[in-house]
Amino acid sequence: MYIDSHCHINFPELAARMPEVLARMAENHVTHALCVSVDLPDFPQVLALAEQYPHIYASVGVHPDYEDTPEPSVEQLLALSQHPKVIAIGETGLDYFRLKGDLEWQRERFRTHIRASRTSGKPLIIHTRAASLDTIRIMQEEGAGNLDGAGGAAGVMHCFTESLEVAEAAMAMGFYISFSGIVTFKSARELQAVARLVPLERILIETDSPYLAPVPHRGKMNEPGFVMHVAEYLADLKGVPLAQVAQQTSDNFFNLFNVIR
Ligand SMILES: [Zn+2]
Ligand SMILES: [Zn+2]
Repeated sequence: MYIDSHCHINFPELAARMPEVLARMAENHVTHALCVSVDLPDFPQVLALAEQYPHIYASVGVHPDYEDTPEPSVEQLLALSQHPKVIAIGETGLDYFRLKGDLEWQRERFRTHIRASRTSGKPLIIHTRAASLDTIRIMQEEGAGNLDGAGGAAGVMHCFTESLEVAEAAMAMGFYISFSGIVTFKSARELQAVARLVPLERILIETDSPYLAPVPHRGKMNEPGFVMHVAEYLADLKGVPLAQVAQQTSDNFFNLFNVIR
């Protein structure tokens, strides 16, 4: 079995093909998927999918790339995260690649999500791009991963593309490292070296679909059923059986998000 720990199947291009997307998951033994929220107006669609399908879960949060969208408060995130199918806060974080200028609002928004995670006890889904120093600094300042609630794990650095140092700083705060199809790309030599050194006990796998389809589907529309290719690549890279990568990354997902299998 495989689990896609991060996808956007509520986006129109995948939502329009839902029966096909779910059938491909079943065919490829992808047993669960976490549909990640990117802003509050889209959250009802994300939640509706999680309510409709037992093996689809939801998160609540506002992505750092969304500028003209309602700003969430800690209270709002807490209220929306009470739903039993909402298993995480995010995606949140910093992105200095897509947006330029004064991004203090991104950092404030990130702090809001960390506070909501600490209070709710639900783990964080962190997106970081061209901003790793500030991301780690704010995580440390806000005590990301020190959960006041019932004490699950801290969260995940999703679609990881940073250095081993950044991975280690995040793991020291209790975070998991999630690899997407990017790790399968020929050009991703440095990331492959990082993935080789991150222990399997700390790894999740994801598609981030509809983007970033792994080899051999690179360039096509991505979907959760393709997450097995990330697992296959990691098994080769680490020289361990595919079944072990499948089992361990699934166990990691259940542990992190407190999901009863
Ligand atoms: Zn992201
Ligand atoms: Zn995403």
